Amino acid sequence: MTRCPICTKPTAAASKPFCSERCREVDLNKWFTASYAVPAVELDDVDDESLEAAAQLLIDPDESH
Ligand SMILES: [Zn+2]
Repeated sequence: MTRCPICTKPTAAASKPFCSERCREVDLNKWFTASYAVPAVELDDVDDESLEAAAQLLIDPDESH
């Protein structure tokens, strides 16, 4: 028997794989919150030029002048 991943009650056929619409929404919110917490989204906002400049400073800080 399949069980609800949220509350572990037996799954209802109408709400698979959850036991109810309520648990389905709880699971959706969980993924929503998790995706907002991923820092990779902010990295996409950094343009390539500033990344390259920062990388060169890290490689050879003394030969820049
Ligand atoms: Zn449930």
